[in-house]
Amino acid sequence: MNFGLGRDHSVILMSLRPSAPYRDRIEDGGTTLIYEGHDHPKTGAVRNPKLVDQPDRHPSGGLTQNGKFHQAAQEFKLGRRSPERVRVYEKIRTGIWAYNSVFHLIDSWTEQDEHRRVFKFRLAAVEGEEDFARPAQPDAQRRRLIPTSVKLEVWKRDGGKCAVCGANDELHFDHILPFSKGGTSLTAANVQLLCARHNLTKHDRIE
Ligand SMILES: [Zn+2]
Repeated sequence: MNFGLGRDHSVILMSLRPSAPYRDRIEDGGTTLIYEGHDHPKTGAVRNPKLVDQPDRHPSGGLTQNGKFHQAAQEFKLGRRSPERVRVYEKIRTGIWAYNSVFHLIDSWTEQDEHRRVFKFRLAAVEGEEDFARPAQPDAQRRRLIPTSVKLEVWKRDGGKCAVCGANDELHFDHILPFSKGGTSLTAANVQLLCARHNLTKHDRIE
């Protein structure tokens, strides 16, 4: 997780794979990501970070990434700021990262996880291309995430390449008929792989 990486947005990497080091999960019919905070780094004093509370501050006193995301979420809840925009990337298989588009950071808390306290962040998947020149709108229309199993099926079918030009970098999973227009996220038939360029071209055409 990287708060404010893009100045007007943050970036996180998620994974729903059983072997993933963190327990990220999807809720509310696929429109919400519950993202787990990050562990204390492994050091001489902390041999097993999974036994230690996830820290919100560095020993020097500055906020960790957990602390920065937590602060932004709490300030949003208090009405002091618009929600932080977060670009989310998902590891769907070894070596394969897919861009999951923009989310709004709307809540955060800590909870007990067996031996320790962990951070949890609630992120709402928002529909469409956001206008980054304007503050994020808390009532933005929700989007439904494409389940990982569908992503893997599409990846295989499309051979890991853009369905239009065959490029194999910066790939997005695209709804052929957008969710807002009644398209489903739940079957591979309505999903295709597009490179960043063709993903943008398509949005221009539809909207
Ligand atoms: Zn392309």
